[in-house]
Amino acid sequence: MHTTQLKGTLEFAKELDQKDPLKRFRNQFHIPTNANGEEQVYLCGNSLGLQPKLTKEYIQQELEDWGNLGVEGHTEAKSPWLPYHEFLTENMAKIVGAKPSEVVMMNTLSVNLHFMMVSFYQPTSKRFKIIIESDAFPSDKYAVESQLKFHGQDPNEALILWKPREGEELCHFEDLEKIMQTEGDQVALLLIGSTNYYTGQSFPLKKITELGHRHGAKVGFDLAHGAGNIQPNLHETGPDFAVWCSYKYLNSGPGSVGGCFVHERHANNKELRRFTGWWGHNKQTRFNMRHEFDPIPGAEGWQLSNPPILSLAAIRASLAVFNEAGFENIREKSIKITNYLEFLLKEIEGDQIEIITPQNPEERGCQLSIKVKNANKALFDKLMAADVIADWREPNVIRIAPAPLYNSYEDVYKMVERLKKLL
Ligand SMILES: *Cc1c(COP(=O)(O)O)cnc(C)c1O
Repeated sequence: MHTTQLKGTLEFAKELDQKDPLKRFRNQFHIPTNANGEEQVYLCGNSLGLQPKLTKEYIQQELEDWGNLGVEGHTEAKSPWLPYHEFLTENMAKIVGAKPSEVVMMNTLSVNLHFMMVSFYQPTSKRFKIIIESDAFPSDKYAVESQLKFHGQDPNEALILWKPREGEELCHFEDLEKIMQTEGDQVALLLIGSTNYYTGQSFPLKKITELGHRHGAKVGFDLAHGAGNIQPNLHETGPDFAVWCSYKYLNSGPGSVGGCFVHERHANNKELRRFTGWWGHNKQTRFNMRHEFDPIPGAEGWQLSNPPILSLAAIRASLAVFNEAGFENIREKSIKITNYLEFLLKEIEGDQIEIITPQNPEERGCQLSIKVKNANKALFDKLMAADVIADWREPNVIRIAPAPLYNSYEDVYKMVERLKKLL
């Protein structure tokens, strides 16, 4: 669809909805309402995805099995709890483009990030630096700084920031290349957010992976804003590891369990340092309780604890919806609906607002970040009061993310109409 064919009218937005092959999925979600019972324009799936109606059913099943079976549920539940995490793997692997053996749902994002750095950040006196993007999510920065300190490194020396150029918002790959040219032999790890939470910029994952590996560094991605949004094709792209959460684009509920990818090349490496627990141990001998640690090959070998089944049930329900829709179709709609949002916003861009997210669909997911030029949060507050649910990031950005599974073109149209009135 070329922008020349787009129209900024309600009729046209409704027409796009009519033609949308995924339109039936909106009805499979609970859409939050205002005090009058009217649906809000919810564009905040990048922060907390909406609840699939299927979720209650899946959790209910586990509550019932727990009620009826007690401990026997580990083996006798309709979906036995012992291998429950395995029921999620195939659908999860498709969404991030991995082999099932490379993926496991466990812990939460920041926790997984630490566990992955235990294995993949092993500094030596010559190679000890970590590169992150300068606007990395604060939790990632804290995690990295604490890992550096844990290994006796000074973050002032060992943490390198990949920064946007003076006066710009986005990062250039060429600048990362330059850093590697001068400091590459000292870099132990490149840790990049696949899609930046603030600007919405998606980085060239394959090029970054090849660059890091060419210089002998390990490469990891934080897919918090990537999983369920863009297709990172993890196996093919080839990073050493990746981590993500399931409550943003993956619609699995507040604080739900996170995901972890370990590339196949590390599947059987028993020498790799790691923090361990019984759930990562060989399933055949796990309950003998006496064996030396014998890791399960692949990502499952990094599990520590038996996982929270109620949370996994919510993820399983959501992944079933993703699977039914097909991630390729989701991504296709994502590109279209974000293009439409951009088209509408361009008509009101000017003195007060500016889109900072890249224009190229390959360099972004569904989120657009709007810079409010007078840095005034009042505009955002008014938008919320007009039942548009978006989010505000200091110092001056409103983030809006039309989630292709449940957002309509009409949502996008209404959002821009309401913003227009406020400007
Ligand atoms: C949302 C987000 C987190 C949150 O981490 P949790 O451990 O799930 O609380 C971390 N990093 C990034 C980049 C995020 O977007």
